[in-house]
Amino acid sequence: MIEIKDLHKSYKMGSNSLHVLKGINFTAEEGELVAIMGSSGSGKSTLLNILGMLDGANSGEYNLDGVPIKDLTETKAAQYRNKFLGFIFQSFNLINYKSALENVALPLYYQKVGRKERQVKAMSYLERVGLKEWAEHLPSELSGGQKQRVAIARAMAAEPKVLLADEPTGALDSTTSYEVMDLIQKINDEGNTILVVTHEEDIAHMCKRIVHLKDGVIVEDKKIDQVRAEQYV
Ligand code: ADP
Ligand code: MG
Repeated sequence: MIEIKDLHKSYKMGSNSLHVLKGINFTAEEGELVAIMGSSGSGKSTLLNILGMLDGANSGEYNLDGVPIKDLTETKAAQYRNKFLGFIFQSFNLINYKSALENVALPLYYQKVGRKERQVKAMSYLERVGLKEWAEHLPSELSGGQKQRVAIARAMAAEPKVLLADEPTGALDSTTSYEVMDLIQKINDEGNTILVVTHEEDIAHMCKRIVHLKDGVIVEDKKIDQVRAEQYV
């Protein structure tokens, strides 16, 4: 589903440049649930933004569902992003003056789905995240965990193949974090490929595979069974 080879990314800082990703090689198959771990500033968001086609790399290859991303025109790339990728952020990124339902319906509006069908579909996604009764509420009337569930419903409404979550539990207390991760696991069980960026060990352990990013490269890449087995030796 996702394949990157020797990916490099630098940020220009005046006359200097900051080399953040120094040759990343990574693949994720359809249906995987992968945690990308690393300390603050290690380049997790940079990597996720490139995977999400929100930013470009300086060099290297990126194939998404078999298609080389750099060969796409800007219009095609935007279509591709909307079709394949869904995003979940630490700060939820909901629209404050729109109800939960309207937030979830928004990607469907951009996909030119008709009004009636938008409402019905958005409501079914809200129901799946357990927030049917909260449909008419504004984000300001919801708890952090509820806001993130609305954001997850919104990401799913566009029916992406891949969900990219950048510190999805970063603004939540631990109980709420586990609830949000339970939901992410449930969505993964239904077939979505999901990448979760986190710096929290216990959140990473709720994924099926853990990748460690350090000094611009992947220093560890293990299935959760292997991680667990090594903890008990
Ligand atoms: P993480 O998500 O792991 O905390 P980031 O990918 O956000 O790390 O950042 C990696 C490094 O790149 C940091 O040193 C950060 O300051 C720097 N950085 C991130 N975005 C930019 C940018 N747009 N311009 C310049 N430097 C950036
Ligand atoms: Mg980050």
